[in-house]
Amino acid sequence: MKNIIFLAPPAAGKGTLSEMLVNKYGYGHISTGDLLREEIKNQTEIGKQAEDLMKQGKFVSDDVIIELISNRITKPDCENGYILDGFPRTLVQAEKYDELLKELGKDLGVVIYINIDKEMAMKRACSRITCPKCGKIYNKYSNEMKPKVEGICDDCGVELTQRSDDSEETFIKRFDEYVNKTMPLFDYYKNKGVLKTIEAHESKYDTFNDAVEILEK
Ligand code: ADP
Repeated sequence: MKNIIFLAPPAAGKGTLSEMLVNKYGYGHISTGDLLREEIKNQTEIGKQAEDLMKQGKFVSDDVIIELISNRITKPDCENGYILDGFPRTLVQAEKYDELLKELGKDLGVVIYINIDKEMAMKRACSRITCPKCGKIYNKYSNEMKPKVEGICDDCGVELTQRSDDSEETFIKRFDEYVNKTMPLFDYYKNKGVLKTIEAHESKYDTFNDAVEILEK
């Protein structure tokens, strides 16, 4: 199985698509956002550093992120392939990741860019609700992504919450960070010949089918 990097603006659907591909193929799933939220929950040093930055819609430092990633990709569930959801997000991260792959003798795999316009991404972010226990992502205004019972996780039965960085104000800051710091990775990976593009369709199943087509070609 080829490792996957998802390159996309905030709220493009990286997390949802990752979950669907993990269920189909058994990839290890590495979401740097989830790893950071876990550090915050456990009130670790990393969590304390990350919390304010995330609330302001800013990126966490490259060194912290690289440390989290290098610990995570060597875990057994990543042996046969993994999905990077939210990493790399800067050129420094991409370059350090290349070095890490070389050290570990692993392949980069495929980079899938999810194309979505700013308005649609903002609409999704502002109506996104997540399970604080299992991290499952729902959306209040999407028929296929609504929970069965309003406001409650289908799997855990606990109350769903909105992420503190999913307000309109913070979303705009996150989007700007993305344009300034992450967009340059589009050319970085295009030049390596590993970049594929899919559209963020209205239905998650259509986006999923496009991703499967790329992976099975
Ligand atoms: P989304 O996919 O909606 O943008 P994430 O859960 O991936 O959200 O990320 C949430 C926040 O975590 C980011 O806005 C950023 O502050 C921080 N973060 C996650 N991944 C990285 C990364 N690779 N580099 C720097 N900061 C990151």
